[in-house]
Amino acid sequence: MDVQFFVTWLEEVASVVQTQRDHLTQLDAAIGDADHGANLDRGFTAVRQALADTPPDTPGAALVLAGSTLIRRVGGASGPLYGTAFRQMGKTLGDAPEVSLAELSTALDAALAGVQKLGAAVEGDKTMVDALAPAVRALAGAVQDGAKPADAIAAAAEAAAEGARATIPLQARKGRASYLGSRSAGHEDPGAASTALILGALRTAGSR
Ligand code: ADP
Ligand code: MG
Repeated sequence: MDVQFFVTWLEEVASVVQTQRDHLTQLDAAIGDADHGANLDRGFTAVRQALADTPPDTPGAALVLAGSTLIRRVGGASGPLYGTAFRQMGKTLGDAPEVSLAELSTALDAALAGVQKLGAAVEGDKTMVDALAPAVRALAGAVQDGAKPADAIAAAAEAAAEGARATIPLQARKGRASYLGSRSAGHEDPGAASTALILGALRTAGSR
């Protein structure tokens, strides 16, 4: 996977976040403050613009640019968290011009570690970690099994989507939704839903 693959991924994220903006906002309206769709749309629109303004030379540079842009442009909890995730991925890939599936898996693991270091959420807290952690495990498992890249990425995307759906019955223990206590149960976590979209976009980029 080269820089073009990662740019395609980020553009695909911008496009799906725009399409799903109202859906993400509705999820956040139920258990938060109804800004998650707007936050991410603003952030990834800025990412798309930054990629066009200063085209990166390597996968790592593309991801670090995306992460820094998200930190700068997205308020709320999700900006620093997603910003850190993309920055950690990029830093892990360094300045290699090509990335193997195993390296992508290591980088996604670093993204999860960055999110957990910053936000201190564990699985079951009803956050983006509930989608990201299963995706990381699925990708690592697929690499171990010697799966083809497209199948491995599809498995990660499916695991993220399942993880997001599985947040519905949970009670939030981190972030704004935790203020609702037991009333946060019965709704999908917006950040887990957006993480599933981001991993879904990776699958789309892979099939391009
Ligand atoms: P805010 O909550 O500040 O309005 P957003 O609405 O953009 O920010 O994002 C909310 C999402 O951020 C939540 O649905 C959750 O997935 C994620 N989130 C919040 N706090 C944490 C945390 N400590 N660790 C991981 N994810 C978190
Ligand atoms: Mg919000």
